[in-house]
Amino acid sequence: MKVRVDSERCQGHTLCAISAPDAFELSDIDGHATPASEDVAPGQEDKVREAARSCPERAITLLDQG
Ligand code: SF4
Repeated sequence: MKVRVDSERCQGHTLCAISAPDAFELSDIDGHATPASEDVAPGQEDKVREAARSCPERAITLLDQG
């Protein structure tokens, strides 16, 4: 599974990093999120799905493969 954050939509609510702290990194400046890695580690998939659901801006896109 791959994850992307749309930087135009992200408003820095940081909810994604609360759901999946190992999968998202937050900017020290504005709190905007970027994926720690585009490829989601297998053990992180459920947390990243939850993060995508929790994002108020719908800024997180998941790409399921196979
Ligand atoms: S929850 Fe959404 S808007 Fe908030 S930091 Fe994460 S990606 Fe950005």
